[in-house]
Amino acid sequence: MSSTEIALIALAIGLIIGVGVSLLVMWAYRAKARVELETSSAIPDGVADVLRSMDDAACVVDVSGLVLATSVAATRFGIEVGAILENQELRQLVRNVRSTGGTGTETMRITRGGLSLDPRLVSARASTLGPRLMLLIIRDVTEQERLDQMRNDFVANTSHELKTPVGAVSLLAEAIESAADDPAQVRIFAARISAEAARLGQLTGRILSLSRLQAADGLADVNPVAIDEVIMASIEAHVVQADSAGVELVRGGDRGVWVRGDAQILIEAVGNLLTNAIVYSPRGSRVGVGVKADGDVVEIAVADQGIGISEADRERIFERFYRADEARSRRTGGTGLGLSIVKHATQRHGGEVRLWSRPGRGSTFTIRLPRIETPVIDQDEKRKKKRARKAAKAAAPARARNGDRA
Ligand code: ADP
Repeated sequence: MSSTEIALIALAIGLIIGVGVSLLVMWAYRAKARVELETSSAIPDGVADVLRSMDDAACVVDVSGLVLATSVAATRFGIEVGAILENQELRQLVRNVRSTGGTGTETMRITRGGLSLDPRLVSARASTLGPRLMLLIIRDVTEQERLDQMRNDFVANTSHELKTPVGAVSLLAEAIESAADDPAQVRIFAARISAEAARLGQLTGRILSLSRLQAADGLADVNPVAIDEVIMASIEAHVVQADSAGVELVRGGDRGVWVRGDAQILIEAVGNLLTNAIVYSPRGSRVGVGVKADGDVVEIAVADQGIGISEADRERIFERFYRADEARSRRTGGTGLGLSIVKHATQRHGGEVRLWSRPGRGSTFTIRLPRIETPVIDQDEKRKKKRARKAAKAAAPARARNGDRA
């Protein structure tokens, strides 16, 4: 036998012994943990039942950090009965609270179970359960933090957007005061105040729509909705804007298609697409509204031959307050919220919005919604729908009534 072979055999024997010893140590450790688990201070009556009924991750640990009982959700953080609490920050919290007594809460980022998962932001609360036991409750607040951040951004952006027209109104009021002797100037400033007021109205209306869509868990007023009615109401509300912009509105495609949802919200969504299509199109061009029933899906496409949207902007235009061309959007009375409303309204209906666009050629926004069978409608329903259409017509957006265009 060569010396290399002897060395290899020695190495193999060494490995086998090493692995054997490790297994033995692990087995002994687990056995010790089991014994400790069985013999350690008894968990107070009812605590295990409470843990079982908890939605949060929670566990009872002893002084050595050994986990004695857990809630179901604790496994999400890799916390298991019979194992040692692994996370160092959680252990530190438990130690601190143990030394001071009472309760302690800390917010920290911890990794759930396997390392591949994103760290979660948690609020961990440790409380003394007895001389040897601590209760640890770990509440996942990641989603809460995301929503808070979104809300804060929204409030900050909204106040920023409101500042401009409010500031303009106050400056114009001062200008009117100092031009009191010049009726022509007063008329000009008054007209500008009116325009700013309309802009404020438009902005607050859209902010309300968006926060309603984002706040509610579902749609408030859900009924079978005829897409024909939605298209007719949206077009009627935009005839004046299209006329004064010199844009022709054309309706095409399938008729008699139905979805389940809130007619007002759908009319507003299609209306926002029409407003944009008209605003971002040149005089003499066409804006088409087409409906296509494709199996279980209804597609409502609003197509224009306008300025189009660059690839980089296509990624972002559904974000709140995002505008591809800030100056142009403001000049035409835009709020930067129209498409965000379209996106949320569509999602609330279980659908999605698709966008095709080429700069200089035009854009097509397609709302895709789940289709339903044609329902049997009674006369009451018909009257309700007629009233809804009238209301939508009366609420045509200020931008549409202004007939402003690019
Ligand atoms: P806005 O009130 O500014 O129109 P939207 O949320 O409705 O806000 O649209 C966001 C941005 O997307 C607009 O500012 C504009 O740059 C771009 N956009 C939307 N629709 C069109 C369109 N049909 N053609 C070209 N650009 C569009």
